[in-house]
Amino acid sequence: MKRQTTAIHTPYVRPDAYGALAVPIYNNVSFEFQDAQQMSDVFCNRVKAPEYARIGNPTVTNLEQRVRALTEAQHVTAYNSGMAAISNALFAVASQGRSIVTSRHLFGNTLALISNTMLRFGVKPKMRDLTDLAAVEQAVDEQTACVYLEIVTNPQLEVADLKGIADIAHAKGVPVIADSTVIPFTETSLKDLGVDIEVVSSTKYISGGGTSLGGLIIDYGTFPDINKRVKYDLLVNLGAYMTPQVAYMQTLGLETLDVRYQRQAANAQWLAEALRNVTGIESVNYVGLPDNPYHELARKQFGPTAGAMLTIDLASKEACFAALNRLKLVHRATNIFDSRTLAIHPASTIFGLFPERQLQQMDVRQTTIRLSVGLEAPEDIFDDIRQALEN
Ligand SMILES: *Cc1c(COP(=O)(O)O)cnc(C)c1O
Repeated sequence: MKRQTTAIHTPYVRPDAYGALAVPIYNNVSFEFQDAQQMSDVFCNRVKAPEYARIGNPTVTNLEQRVRALTEAQHVTAYNSGMAAISNALFAVASQGRSIVTSRHLFGNTLALISNTMLRFGVKPKMRDLTDLAAVEQAVDEQTACVYLEIVTNPQLEVADLKGIADIAHAKGVPVIADSTVIPFTETSLKDLGVDIEVVSSTKYISGGGTSLGGLIIDYGTFPDINKRVKYDLLVNLGAYMTPQVAYMQTLGLETLDVRYQRQAANAQWLAEALRNVTGIESVNYVGLPDNPYHELARKQFGPTAGAMLTIDLASKEACFAALNRLKLVHRATNIFDSRTLAIHPASTIFGLFPERQLQQMDVRQTTIRLSVGLEAPEDIFDDIRQALEN
C-alpha cells in the first residue's frame, strides 16, 4: 500500500466492539481484567494490554500503530508535546558524564534543554557545525550518548549530511537522533539515511491546523536498549504520555496529512519564488530554491518537496516590525504548519531572551522574518506580504 492508503487503512490492534470506522476515544483511566493472573501478566509486561492510561490507551496505541505502519519503525511512542518526545528520547540515551554532540542550530527549547536542563544532570553538550563531517568525527567518542540534530534547522534552514553523520556515529557505536518536524515522515525515509531514532513535534503537520500539542518517538530498533528505557522506565516514571482526545485529533490529522502537506509545500515553493522579486525583501531563504546552498542535499535526502517554512530578510529589525504590523491576512503567531499562514520575528520572540552574541553564534538575525505557509491561495498570501512591505 502507498502511504496515502496506509494513513487511513491501518487496522486496529483489536477490532472495535461496534465496528466504528473512525477511531473511538477511550476517554478512561483504568482497564479491567478478567482474572488476577491476566492482571499480573499485563502489569509485569508478559502480556500487552492497556492497564492505566498514563502507560497505555487504545486510542493512543492506534495512532502509534498508524505511524509505525507509515515509517516501518519497530516502536512508536506518543507524548503530550514535541518537547516531551525530545526530552524522553534524550533521557533514554544520556547519563551523567556522557555528552550529546549537536549544533547551535536548534529549536530554542531543545537548545535550552540540552545546554541547561541536561547539563544540571551532568550531561555535557558538545556544540559543533554538523555540516562539517570532520568536526563531527572529532567530537564523537566513547562517551558520546548520541548525535542529535534537526533535519532542516529552524530558522536557519540548514541541512546536514545524515548518512555521513550516521556512518561516523555508528562506527563508534553511537546512535543518531533526528528531529524531523519540518519534513514529515510520509515524505522521506530517515531510517534509510541511517537515523536510529526520529523525534517529531506532531503539534505541527500532523495535528492538522494547530489543534493540539503532541510528540512522537519513532524508534527503528537499531539500538534495542533504547526502547526498553523509553517504554518501561521513562514513559512510566516521567508521565508524559499522549492523552486520548489528542490522539483522536492527531489521527484525523494524520489521515489528511499528505494532501495538506503537498498543498502547503507547493504554496511555499510558489511563494519563495514570487517573494524574490518584491522590493524591500533582501533575500529569501528556502531549501526548495535551486540556488539554495542545501538544495541538492535536501533533494537527495528528503525528495522533491522542501517543507512549508521559509524566511525573508529585510533591511533592519525596524523594517521587520513595520511589515509584521501591516499584515492583514497573515497572522502574527508562532507555530509551524498551521492551516493559516503565520509570521514571526524569531530574534525578538523565540530567541528574545538570548544575548546578541549568542544569537550571532546561532545565526539568528535581527533582519529575519519566518513564515509558515498555510493552505490559503498563495496569491492571497503574496498580496498581503507585498502590501505590508509598501511604505
Ligand atoms: C515546535 C517544535 C518542537 C517542540 O514541539 P512542541 O510540540 O511545541 O513541544 C521541537 N522541534 C521543532 C523543530 C519544532 O518546530
